Amino acid sequence: MDYLGEIIAVGIDSVIFGICLKQFFHCKNAVAAVKDAEFHEVGPQLGNLVNESVDNKVGYVAIRGIVKPLGKPLTSINNKRITGVVQKLKIKEHVVARTTAGFWSDQERTVHKVFNTVPFALEHGPYSVEILEPLSADILDMDVVSNTFEPTVPSFADHLWGFFTGVRQRGLQSTEELLREGALITGIGELSRTKSKTLTLQPPLNGTPFYLTSMSVSSLLKKLDDRKKTYRLLCFMFGAIGLLIGGILFRRYWKDRTEQRLAEELRQSLAASRKEGRQRVRDTDLREDQMCVVCRSNPREIILLPCGHVCLCEDCAENITNDCPVCRAPISQKAAAYIS
Ligand SMILES: [Zn+2]
Ligand SMILES: [Zn+2]
Repeated sequence: MDYLGEIIAVGIDSVIFGICLKQFFHCKNAVAAVKDAEFHEVGPQLGNLVNESVDNKVGYVAIRGIVKPLGKPLTSINNKRITGVVQKLKIKEHVVARTTAGFWSDQERTVHKVFNTVPFALEHGPYSVEILEPLSADILDMDVVSNTFEPTVPSFADHLWGFFTGVRQRGLQSTEELLREGALITGIGELSRTKSKTLTLQPPLNGTPFYLTSMSVSSLLKKLDDRKKTYRLLCFMFGAIGLLIGGILFRRYWKDRTEQRLAEELRQSLAASRKEGRQRVRDTDLREDQMCVVCRSNPREIILLPCGHVCLCEDCAENITNDCPVCRAPISQKAAAYIS
């Protein structure tokens, strides 16, 4: 394959372009949906809103309230005084690894990640809305309670091992994040009422993003809008790269084709001029036994082997490759015959 490199490049570029385009539309739809969402503090009006809606559901709404566990809260591992409702524990391993190019580069990989949750609600005075499936949120803002890095102290054996395996331990980073009890949070999602008359906020069924954020709606909008702009820029960039590689590919293909066509034309015109040259030197006043048996106009110029018949002109001999037209013997070779 002459164009394999370019085709692979176009393929990879299209995949990246596709991902960016998908993200761009995701952000664009999210911005439009959040802009349209009504904003309410948690309060008595939410109940009325649900009552007025079809089948007790409000498609997309932003509500703000204070995080309150419905039961016993989670306690931070690193600071017993801090309590919360969603906990994320993550352990990352930092290593220095030798790349295929032979350089050493810093790399990190998550070795352990765990979420703990307890049921909770957003509350304001006597009113509250229970939050369902908090881990499905597109944005879930949590506070970093602790972030520690324990460096590995390597022994001589570790150094030797690292040299041969190409991976050297640098240390372990542990982080703990918590959605804290008492935090002021804006939740954006679908509001509905359960059979037990509790108001709930959950991820919308139609795939519109669900947010649990400490930002205000306007900051969230700005963040989403920035993200949308970034993806738009990436789309333009990878689109342009794709067009460029495509253009180079097309130009190469076109050039190769033109060259092939020119070569074919040259070959044909050479053959035609050779034929014309032969015609010019030919004797036109021939006896019957001197004429080619096929066209009966040119002189006999070719000897067929092994039968030895001299019965064809050069023009006709070009088209006859199998059998001698006189004796039907198979032709193994042709040569010019000179009769003087
Ligand atoms: Zn002939
Ligand atoms: Zn023959």
